[in-house]
Amino acid sequence: MWGNAIRIARIHGFEIKVDASWLLIAALIVWSLATAYFPVEFPDARTPALLVMAVAAMLGLFGSLIVHELAHAIVARRFGLRISGITLFLFGGVAELQSEPVSGATEFWIAIAGPFASFCLALGFWFSALVSDIIGLPAAALSIFGYLAVINLVLALFNLLPAFPMDGGRVLRAWLWTRSGDLVMSTRHAVTVSNVIAYGVIALGLYAVFSGALAAGLWPILIGLFLLATSRASLARLETEVAFDGRTVATFMTRDPWTARVDQSLSDLVNNVFLEHAITFAPVLENGTLLGYVDTQIVRKIDREHWTTVMVEDVIENVNNDNSVFCDMTGLDLMARIMKTGRRKFLVVDAERLAGVITLTDVLAVINVSREVGPAPHQSYSRTAPE
Ligand SMILES: [Zn+2]
Repeated sequence: MWGNAIRIARIHGFEIKVDASWLLIAALIVWSLATAYFPVEFPDARTPALLVMAVAAMLGLFGSLIVHELAHAIVARRFGLRISGITLFLFGGVAELQSEPVSGATEFWIAIAGPFASFCLALGFWFSALVSDIIGLPAAALSIFGYLAVINLVLALFNLLPAFPMDGGRVLRAWLWTRSGDLVMSTRHAVTVSNVIAYGVIALGLYAVFSGALAAGLWPILIGLFLLATSRASLARLETEVAFDGRTVATFMTRDPWTARVDQSLSDLVNNVFLEHAITFAPVLENGTLLGYVDTQIVRKIDREHWTTVMVEDVIENVNNDNSVFCDMTGLDLMARIMKTGRRKFLVVDAERLAGVITLTDVLAVINVSREVGPAPHQSYSRTAPE
């Protein structure tokens, strides 16, 4: 997800990375602090001094965001979850959990740790401002500490908005999850609340834009759209995980599919296999040995007038690691393979023999049915803790 992230440090064993998009935000923060915020307090200050203050405040904010994410990461590690790293990007920071929390209580403590850290930082900076005033540090230090105290308080409160997958949304889901014991239903409710908030934030942004505050309005609109997209994606990922829990390709593939022969002409194939059985993809066998497959896309590339003379063996796509999967591949791995390669149909092999075929349609059917009526009864969906 973070293709452009640059590794900048390692703290407590966590990789700290900065996405290129954060640099844009850093520049915006410096610019707005140096041209609008600090000049109000220091009208006589010169540009270089204002820039130094703005950069110092930006670095303070940068450190605060990392502390917020570190708090999530450290608590998650205490609960035995693995964290791949911390990345700062356009909309703040994210601690990337390699696995999801296993219970509502775990999720609650991990989620609340970040805003708690931001509250502590706000208090700490407020206290620093007091002390620097007492011991007579320059007014600039006082102003920077004051700014950081306010911004951390805002960060803590903003993150506590019950919008999933932000911290507050996770707290809400943890509470629903603990009460009902149903993770999927709790996530659905949390996403519904989240969507209401996201549309509210977008409406506020639009109001600002139409009132003439273009720059101030764009930011909430972007955040609202980001929330809508990420909450939807989180729910879809969870529903997929639940639908495929413990299921392998063998459990939902098409067994004994219609097949084609190498010595068949394309017109024979089209009329007696594709049209006859309403299929678009057929494994090719010779004496029971799987050779590969043909599909309607391959046939369409050949001029229709040649269909009677061109044989299946002339156009066959030979079986290989790209177009075949094993019976015991998990549904989730298959899904990942489809997303990565864009391929929609696979031969399923078992000990080098054809076991069946599996298509994207089969995969989506499993997800849709599970979404409508819940996972298959033999499954008790549970999240497995990492070793
Ligand atoms: Zn957080």
